[in-house]
Amino acid sequence: MIVVRCKDCGVEVTNQSGSCGCPNMVRVNEDTVTAIDLTRTIMVRSNHVKEKSALSPDDLAFQEKRRKRKVRKLDFEVR
Ligand SMILES: [Zn+2]
Repeated sequence: MIVVRCKDCGVEVTNQSGSCGCPNMVRVNEDTVTAIDLTRTIMVRSNHVKEKSALSPDDLAFQEKRRKRKVRKLDFEVR
């Protein structure tokens, strides 16, 4: 789900809520955002950002650390 906040009126708009109600006319259609002035909108939540943050950087960093720890342990045991 996409959530966009209109900077002019402060209303958060989703694809179910129609336009924000002020002259900037912020509106979400499926996965696109329309507004009279897009620079006066804030992307609060988008599908793409959510996918990335849900699956990657922290998890990958954590897994890499674990791998390194395992390798070190093996090296230590071999010696
Ligand atoms: Zn507005």
